Amino acid sequence: MRDQNQFSKEAKVGGWKDIEEHRWEQRQAAIGIAVAAKAIRICEFHDGSLLTGTGDLSYACTVGNGKMNRGEFKELFASRTEITDAVKAIIDEIALDSCPYCDKMLAD
Ligand SMILES: [Zn+2]
Repeated sequence: MRDQNQFSKEAKVGGWKDIEEHRWEQRQAAIGIAVAAKAIRICEFHDGSLLTGTGDLSYACTVGNGKMNRGEFKELFASRTEITDAVKAIIDEIALDSCPYCDKMLAD
């Protein structure tokens, strides 16, 4: 635990944190795209709980490109490839079929 604190302190030095923050913002945007395209879902009771959806990356990219064309991301993504990569990473990452918090509530 102590090492982790140390780590986050060091991360705030220099430009490293900016890169991390940028990645985090890209990730949030990618989640928004994937959810809008139904490629992934958010539990209707738990905001932070991301679940598998259609997994349709090409449709998600269409949605992402549409948002980019409307200027929604400003300077967040440098290219369409970056959007594709970010959305693909999210879709690949989400492996839960049902919300663990809902499952736990049902179990209790
Ligand atoms: Zn839930």
